[in-house]
Amino acid sequence: MSVQVTVTRDVAAQKLHFDATFPASSAPWTLQLPTWRPGRYELANFAQYVMWVKGTAADGTETRLSKSDLHSWHVPAGVNRVSWLFHADILNAGSTCVESDLFYVNPVNCFMYDASRPDLPFEIRLADLTLAEDEASRWALATALPWTVEEGTPVMRARDVQHVMDAPWVASPKLWHDSYREQGVDFHVWVHDTLPADPTRFMSEHVAFTRAQLSHFGSFPTEEYHFLYLFPDREVRHGVEHEDSTVIALGPAERVKSEEGHMEIIGIASHELYHAWNVKRIRPAEWTPYDFTQACPSELGYIAEGVTTYMGDLFLFEAGVVDLQGWCGLMTKLLERHLNNPGRLNMSVAASSFDTWLDGYRLGVHGRKGSIYVEGAVLAFLCDCRIMAATDGQASLSTAMRLLWERFGRPRKGLEASDFWDVLEEVAGEPLDDLRRDHAEGTEDTWQPLVDAMATQGLALSKRVDDKDLTRVSLTPQSPPAPPMA
Ligand SMILES: [Zn+2]
Repeated sequence: MSVQVTVTRDVAAQKLHFDATFPASSAPWTLQLPTWRPGRYELANFAQYVMWVKGTAADGTETRLSKSDLHSWHVPAGVNRVSWLFHADILNAGSTCVESDLFYVNPVNCFMYDASRPDLPFEIRLADLTLAEDEASRWALATALPWTVEEGTPVMRARDVQHVMDAPWVASPKLWHDSYREQGVDFHVWVHDTLPADPTRFMSEHVAFTRAQLSHFGSFPTEEYHFLYLFPDREVRHGVEHEDSTVIALGPAERVKSEEGHMEIIGIASHELYHAWNVKRIRPAEWTPYDFTQACPSELGYIAEGVTTYMGDLFLFEAGVVDLQGWCGLMTKLLERHLNNPGRLNMSVAASSFDTWLDGYRLGVHGRKGSIYVEGAVLAFLCDCRIMAATDGQASLSTAMRLLWERFGRPRKGLEASDFWDVLEEVAGEPLDDLRRDHAEGTEDTWQPLVDAMATQGLALSKRVDDKDLTRVSLTPQSPPAPPMA
């Protein structure tokens, strides 16, 4: 019993044709398209790219299916074969795009499922993709989904709807590949189009931040992991996390080749790998499992994205990819974004997280809301410093995240706010309710707590207002230099 899906391309029209056969059902059923994708907590309206949906009866008669709501279709009793046409011309880290040298799919954009049978496995046949023997024109396939070649074409397999929706693939004749092994886990790096200027450094820095993160968590959730990079010669900057992989898109080519672009890529990569633990496993209860049929607001975006933003950068420092000055530079940018957003004083980061579903990924009304990335990362830093100070440097936020991985991530138990704060307090050995009240669920100003926290790390933080009325910060080691951070 599985869903058999055949995907074929119309490259010229940038369309994907899907033909799906579901196990027979005697009653009418609902064909569902996801309404959002994990990693972007707002409704995505993917149905706007669906040209048509048809059902094929047992006698071969095809009829257009009518909708049961904006994102689902009514399938009559006795029909178990459906087909649809999807327009695929968007290229970012969470999209689906068909071009002459690219076959890139995020199934969560364009795969449909039987809403009442989310546990059915999927078998996905890429019917028109030939992985040629000829080196010169060889198409390669990069994905975390297990796959085999049958009758000359790739067939991928997913355990269920949760699995298929979280497993993008990239196929292309222009895929560079390398790999490394850390603590028994195979890490694959795939690059489409532009290769970074120094591939050796690119790989060695991957090894460094992977090793640092693995050593803090103690174990990795899967046996293999894939970095899928899209570096097209056009403007894009985006990363999306998945259970066993990530897609990272950056362009144009000259940016990828530059030092600044290189550091951007490594920064996003460290962030996305951290997500393999935090949010893909240590996951808010509202997203466990993902309900693709409707908006699923959560107040815990400051854990999902805030802790990840802070930790992704901190692990660049721990891994030696950036030095203390480099880390101060990353923190300076973050703090300036934080201090120059008056919305942080109007709506808490927890409330702003709940509201990402309205306008969380746009500027929105000036002064209305905070950012789960920026305000969440500032809060994570305050928590980290408090735990280090309370434990004489014996523990940190990393210690708490490792416990959360063991207790919630590994057993896939949905996380509530109190679970997070209880574990942090357990590790700190003292109450942290002021941090939760003032800076997670409240809108207290963070300036003095930030100055004090930086001082515990031997760093002097000061600010001034520039001629554009923007707050600028300076972050420098105090003299004499303090020891590096725990
Ligand atoms: Zn993220």
